[in-house]
Amino acid sequence: MKRFVFFAFASLVLLSGCGGKSATTAPSSNLYKATKEMMGTFVTITVVATDAEQPKAQQAVANAFDRMRRIEDLMSIHRDDTELAHVNREAFAAPVRVSDDTYEVIRASIQFAKDTEGAFDITVGPLVKLWEEAGKTGKLPADAEIKEALTRVGAVDKLKLDDKEKTVRFMVRDMSIDLGGIAKGYAVDKAIEVLRAEGMNNAVVQAGGQVTAIGRNADGKKWLVDVRNFFRANGHFERLELENMDVATSGDYERFVTIDGRRYSHIIDPRTGRPVEGASSVSIIAKDGATADAWSTAASVLGFNKATELLRKNDRYKDCQLLFAGCTQGFSDYLAPENN
Ligand code: FAD
Ligand code: MG
Repeated sequence: MKRFVFFAFASLVLLSGCGGKSATTAPSSNLYKATKEMMGTFVTITVVATDAEQPKAQQAVANAFDRMRRIEDLMSIHRDDTELAHVNREAFAAPVRVSDDTYEVIRASIQFAKDTEGAFDITVGPLVKLWEEAGKTGKLPADAEIKEALTRVGAVDKLKLDDKEKTVRFMVRDMSIDLGGIAKGYAVDKAIEVLRAEGMNNAVVQAGGQVTAIGRNADGKKWLVDVRNFFRANGHFERLELENMDVATSGDYERFVTIDGRRYSHIIDPRTGRPVEGASSVSIIAKDGATADAWSTAASVLGFNKATELLRKNDRYKDCQLLFAGCTQGFSDYLAPENN
């Protein structure tokens, strides 16, 4: 099993109180906070809880981690024993019945594939493997290999779902689903659901470059979240104020392969079969984690103008805001006063 854990927290640094310019966690009382290693990164859950509420908070956070762990156990492509690995082995031979969670993520992913005009596509598995292999051998894939892999990619027309039976079927042999671009966001959503169900309505769940903040921080103010922006001089961070929103960041700053001294992103353009170029960091704010996760990946593929156009014309995304490597159009609503 491949295991990387990123110690330099990616794109986002959570501030628990009103902070100064520094990107470190500001001390604040009335918080319960715990971190676990999961999904190839660290997940930190912070909830507002008085001393008396600490035991309840601790239990709620433990339950939220359990929920996330169950999703990892279903959807990881880094292990052979997950439900998704089973789907990838068997779904061409016959329809495979899956859990409600996996079905929901795959169903939502097909909608995202449609809404992003194919830029977000969970059937990129064959291309992801091809480029990972290229990274290991140091040899670029041949055009013919990319062309062949592309015949096995296409969530909208090559995946068949049965909503009643909750089954998934591949229409082409050797297809492969990769939920790396959405499952983390979905897991964060489910953790938030658990916290709310247990009465923890002021909380933050951060999974690597993905953060959902609900309610208010311990000072009764909006949560402050720093998003890395490589094109800014102010320490590379934009400070955002969030309440009941998620922000997700995608980019090639952490996960990439190097071939002949050139860096290739882990995000693949499913239309060309090649890693995306140009955008090193894209963040998106949305009402939920799955949407932010999928769209941050898609926007990396689409580029700022096309991503903005597609988001704007679809009412489903009216709450989404895009921060694209240096541009902050549409983002100012969330910028903390010191950034404005
Ligand atoms: P995102 O932009 O959100 O996603 C990029 C990822 O999505 C790519 O890595 C690829 O998997 C996929 N993808 C690429 N292009 C597209 C596209 N056009 N459309 C849709 N999807 C695309 N990492 C480890 O090192 N070890 C682990 O054990 C491990 N376990 C994991 C278990 C789960 C359930 C999940 C969700 C992730 C896990 N990861 C693990 C991390 C995973 O391999 C990815 O690197 C990570 O999900 C990328 O997330 P991101 O937010 O950095 O980038
Ligand atoms: Mg994503």
